[in-house]
Amino acid sequence: MVSLNPKIFIKKGFRFIFLLYTKVNVTLSLFKSHIPKEETPYYAHLKASYTLEAAVVLPIMAMILVMVLYGFRILQVQTCVESALDHAARQTAVYAKAIENDETLLLCGSVIAKKSIKKAKAPTEYVSGGLAGITLINSKASGDYVELVATYRMKFPFPFFYKKTATIIQSSKSRKWTGYNKENIGEDDETYVYITPSGKAYHANIECTYLKLSIRTVSVLELDRVRSKNGNIYYACPLCGRGVKTGMVYITDYGENYHKSLSCSGLKRTIYHVPISEAVERGYHSCGKCY
Ligand SMILES: [Zn+2]
Ligand SMILES: [Zn+2]
Repeated sequence: MVSLNPKIFIKKGFRFIFLLYTKVNVTLSLFKSHIPKEETPYYAHLKASYTLEAAVVLPIMAMILVMVLYGFRILQVQTCVESALDHAARQTAVYAKAIENDETLLLCGSVIAKKSIKKAKAPTEYVSGGLAGITLINSKASGDYVELVATYRMKFPFPFFYKKTATIIQSSKSRKWTGYNKENIGEDDETYVYITPSGKAYHANIECTYLKLSIRTVSVLELDRVRSKNGNIYYACPLCGRGVKTGMVYITDYGENYHKSLSCSGLKRTIYHVPISEAVERGYHSCGKCY
């Protein structure tokens, strides 16, 4: 979560420059048009407008350029903090198995995050209070997740704005590496079953043959003779099987498609462990083989 979006900041900055430039130009041309050209030599009015441009427009443009560059600095700090938080949250999630005390765990996460920010050479001179100004005091580690929250203030490097700061909040959440707890799952007395996103049946046993993917290879030339265990022919996988004329392809016993690539997502299987009521609600029926 970020309270100040640098992309919008930069976009607004550019629009502001453009508007200002047009306004100044209009003012200048009005100023020029008031000069009676017959009486004033051409070079004189040219000189004056250049002087005005150099004295007024140039410093303003320079300041705006600094503002835009400052926008990039905010972006740089945010990117560094974000990747440091991600890294630290993941590391802390692993330590959660060994460290049971939430406070200690968060302290650990905070140290890792600060180290990573330092290592990434984030321009912390733009942060109010420097590296120490980035606080992770709002982080949480209760329950199954570790959430590291970094809060800091960006300084404005412009005159008249020295006292102004922009608060930025960023966070990263990781699930603790504590595994799943069978005791907790049984607590609500509800039976849990296994389902797959593409399947139609729920299974009592994760070892059920319908849940297992038995990948084997066949020659493309054999495909018109090979049938799946449901008795269906195999079609080309829309992701990887189109236009395959020769060689070997991958099929599964209960699959519908043949695949050219072993790493195709069509060959992977996601299994969810859900309460039986949820499976029924989602239109699954009991498996004929294991239920
Ligand atoms: Zn089954
Ligand atoms: Zn495929």
